[in-house]
Amino acid sequence: NLPGKVALITGSTSGIGLSVAKKLASQGVHIGLNGFAKPEEVTAIRREIEDQYKVKTFYHGADLKEGPQVKSMMQETSKALGSVDILVNNAGIQYIEQAVNFPEQKFNDIIAINLTAAFLTTKYALPQMLDKNWGRIINIASVHGLVASVNKCAYVAAKHGIVGLTKATALEVAKTGITINAVCPGWVMTKLIEIQIQQRADQYKISFEDAQIKLLEEKQPSVTPVSTDQLGDLITFLCSNSASQIKGSTYTMDGGWTSQ
Ligand code: NAD
Repeated sequence: NLPGKVALITGSTSGIGLSVAKKLASQGVHIGLNGFAKPEEVTAIRREIEDQYKVKTFYHGADLKEGPQVKSMMQETSKALGSVDILVNNAGIQYIEQAVNFPEQKFNDIIAINLTAAFLTTKYALPQMLDKNWGRIINIASVHGLVASVNKCAYVAAKHGIVGLTKATALEVAKTGITINAVCPGWVMTKLIEIQIQQRADQYKISFEDAQIKLLEEKQPSVTPVSTDQLGDLITFLCSNSASQIKGSTYTMDGGWTSQ
């Protein structure tokens, strides 16, 4: 059911978002990209996806902290590729500090990027999806949408928020052909967690590789990272017709993290 559909994946210039973009492209889906990257990196990503999967791509560099830029990204993506059938709210940032010292601007930025932007893209995408009576919205939350860790108050608040947004919006369109779900990964080895690994390497005077194992051992019982490829497969499944009755769900892929 996917060939010819149009997907917009926020934060798709690296990590999980880029992997999801390639997976959906491999199913014949035209790809709207977003995220920060140098122009030559964007060109290389677009060329690779277009050449390998023979689909169209479009890039919009909206800073998702800024509401008007989110609106323009939605409008320009639809103009370039057609109305958005699949929306993956993936962009996210992290900042680690205890609440008493947490910079207030940083808190607001995390809520804006990790939560408010997903509300805005959903608001702008839903009318297009309702017109076709088909749509898929997948919000990349986190295990931190379900449980907390210390020194991540803004991230945990935003991720719990996006799980709530997922459930509330899924209910509003439950009778239609649109599904809205959240995915909650455990540790995935991307740029987002490099700082956290490096901090442990510095703290315990161990190698980056050993620090990676230490990070996994603290929370993820499998002591194996989730791969971006595995997440791409889960998201592709959630876009399929087989998943049409999965509505408002939170899918964990966390090596056992939240079973403890
Ligand atoms: P990443 O840093 O590799 O990718 C983040 C993407 O978001 C990049 O494309 C970046 O340019 C983009 N981005 C950041 N700020 C932006 C802004 N203001 N406007 C537009 N784009 C912006 O990280 P990742 O690990 O691939 O993270 C993707 C999502 O997965 C995030 O929502 C993150 O919270 C979530 N997640 C990651 C992990 C993990 O262990 N890596 C675990 C659970 C959830």
